[in-house]
Amino acid sequence: MILPADFISETRSLLGSEYPLLEAALQARPTISIRLNPAKGLKDLPADCVAWCDTGYYLPERPAFTFDPLFHAGAYYVQEASSMFLEQAIRTYAGGPVKCLDLCAAPGGKSTHLLTALPGGSLLVSNEVIRSRSYILAENTTKWGSPHVIVTHNDPEEIGGLTHFFDMIVVDAPCSGEGMFRKNPESISEWSAGNVALCASRQRRILHDSWGALKPGGILIYSTCTYNLEENEENLHYILAGLGAEALSVPVKEAWNITGPLKYSYPVYRFFPHKTKGEGFFLAVVRKKEDGLPPYRKRPEKEKGKAKSAVPAAPCHWLLQPEAYQIEMRGHTITAFPQSATDDLQTIAARLQIVSSGVSLGEVKGRDVVPCHSLAMSTAFNRAAFPVADLTWPDAIRYLRKEAVALPAAFPKGYALATYKGCPLGFVKHIGNRSNNLYPQEWRIRTECRCNPNDMENKINARGFPGEESKTIG
Ligand code: SAM
Repeated sequence: MILPADFISETRSLLGSEYPLLEAALQARPTISIRLNPAKGLKDLPADCVAWCDTGYYLPERPAFTFDPLFHAGAYYVQEASSMFLEQAIRTYAGGPVKCLDLCAAPGGKSTHLLTALPGGSLLVSNEVIRSRSYILAENTTKWGSPHVIVTHNDPEEIGGLTHFFDMIVVDAPCSGEGMFRKNPESISEWSAGNVALCASRQRRILHDSWGALKPGGILIYSTCTYNLEENEENLHYILAGLGAEALSVPVKEAWNITGPLKYSYPVYRFFPHKTKGEGFFLAVVRKKEDGLPPYRKRPEKEKGKAKSAVPAAPCHWLLQPEAYQIEMRGHTITAFPQSATDDLQTIAARLQIVSSGVSLGEVKGRDVVPCHSLAMSTAFNRAAFPVADLTWPDAIRYLRKEAVALPAAFPKGYALATYKGCPLGFVKHIGNRSNNLYPQEWRIRTECRCNPNDMENKINARGFPGEESKTIG
């Protein structure tokens, strides 16, 4: 790996005599890590744990995740280990249910982590400014399965207009990516001192523009995957002195080998690959002071003259606790959103562009209601409402390719849930001599498995992901 000369001189001046250790670590293989989704039944793995994240594990080698059905089922997320440190900040500062914004959220690593780590009853607004990336974000949050999330596609300035709406904001800022040099070698050629300056000023604009949306006393978590001072300590200094906040510390263990501040004396948490098992990462936490802005007041909604369309009865039973949800029609789609946050949903719908929210239960087609994929992925789903077909690995891969999957002739006709090791993959409609595959066309596996399918199946199983008990018909 050949590093840019300016990067070497800047990082050497930052680390002094330690610098050669970083350079040597950058020549080593990046670590591979995943974070389990306990809401999908995965609570443990026979592998090394990530010390600062209860659900994080290192894998000895990178498996072909594409050919693991549990990956598509949202049973785990492939995420860089250092960035899982977010959990410690959440644990320290989210004492009870919060309204949390993940401002720069795609593809969804921090958002899926927040959905696991935030206290029960919290609401997550997960935002991405780039439209195509907002769809990937919605795909990943849908697969994770929590109904307590709204995915939006807005500019930070538009979100800043929701004055004092959020208790907590996570800004995992777009950055020069120098902490990812060994994981994404292409980021080396994109790096320049000029780009670092550009990123630092964009980060300040993002912070400035969204700052109004945080309540006084609210918590902002700022992170990047870089080492330099401009994108890190200097921007933290800007938040504290320029926007008005106090820096907060996060308890850490000495054994984690996290590096503290390299300029100023504010508490900051830096991950260097020669000291911690993971890639480069920076995180800081601040508490907002009073800002003198009037809080956002929702204008009373005018009742629209149009009567709401009736919701077909069946889909209510498709949820475990239908009474906890507001169930309504949006066009031809029956949707469910947690009752506890419907006011917040209304406020957000009036100001922001929503990509997805809560759970889509079913599409009304004539007299039929076709169950939505989002329902199969949801932790709110009542599995007892459908017969279950637990698929073998080859059939699960066929299903995820959106190919035809044969069910036994005796299998009951109608909609059924396809699972793998007990974890829901999606729906099929069994017609008798064949089944229609209802997997979303745009999410299907498109690549070919280049190795022997039996080897692949054995490798996937060898990781020992525990399957839930499942009731299999047929
Ligand atoms: N938090 C994500 C995760 O953990 O998976 C990674 C976020 S990535 C470091 C930064 C994100 O910021 C990208 O998705 C990028 O599209 C978005 N972004 C780029 N420019 C932005 C801007 N001006 N305002 C807000 N977000 C921006």
